Amino acid sequence: MFRRPRPSYDAQVVAVTPLTPALTRLTFRGAALAELAIEHPTQWVKLAIPEGHSRAYTIRHHRPAEHEVDIDIVLHGNGPLARWAAIARPGDQARLSGPRGRRPEFDGAEHVLLAADESALPAALTILEQLPPAVPVSLVVEISKTSATVPLPARAGLTSRWLARHPGGLKGHLLAETLLATDIPAGTTAWLAGEANAVATIRRHLLTDWSLPRERVHSKGYWKHGEADHKG
Ligand SMILES: Cc1cc2nc3c(=O)[nH]c(=O)nc-3n(C[C@H](O)[C@H](O)[C@H](O)COP(=O)(O)OP(=O)(O)OC[C@H]3O[C@@H](n4cnc5c(N)ncnc54)[C@H](O)[C@@H]3O)c2cc1C
Repeated sequence: MFRRPRPSYDAQVVAVTPLTPALTRLTFRGAALAELAIEHPTQWVKLAIPEGHSRAYTIRHHRPAEHEVDIDIVLHGNGPLARWAAIARPGDQARLSGPRGRRPEFDGAEHVLLAADESALPAALTILEQLPPAVPVSLVVEISKTSATVPLPARAGLTSRWLARHPGGLKGHLLAETLLATDIPAGTTAWLAGEANAVATIRRHLLTDWSLPRERVHSKGYWKHGEADHKG
């Protein structure tokens, strides 16, 4: 059985836009990027840089008419992609392959919980922007410092909590600790992503302590402490 190769697209950086002290937006343009088939929130690509490394990144925005995508990248400083992004300039070349990722289902949700760290904030926002307006949403995001928030879409029934890590705090810990102490309304569908250990802890808690059905808990480890190129 052969797997069909994923389409891949040459692109170059055309804009660099700092969003927060920890997150920067790279806008890529490529002749064929109009064909990138983005069909649902949280879809992602493998972003490959000329040095040969590639990692998973969410398509934050796709503008087919302009042949452009935006990708928001955490500048954690500790891996080849984060280091490349920190010094990326217009004209830098890259290759995107995909898109990949399953559609998270929120049909029938009476409340949606979105829990993320900065790596998963772009994906969480793609969900937030596409949820039906009547569904109440709780967004809980762990960030590096209080100034690292981003503007949210105006939406009735949206509760947001920005959790600023204490200096030296282990990434993911505050998110897990907070959710373990948060009441989860009946009828919740949850989407969780970020550091893998934190995501696993929260997932277990929702399934075991709040008895959420498995199909109502979408979760993915986007990276893992001490592991390069974690495959969630
Ligand atoms: C489906 C999916 C979508 C994703 N979308 C995004 C996105 O839109 N934006 C984004 O920034 N990331 C996103 N990620 C996470 C990103 O792929 C990882 O953070 C990746 O490891 C970064 O590569 P790197 O070369 O910088 O570090 P790696 O070489 O992979 O890792 C080097 C070291 O850095 C640590 N590390 C990796 N990521 C982080 C981090 N975020 N904070 C602190 N330490 C880290 C690792 O534990 C390791 O010790 C996504 C991941 C998945 C699976």
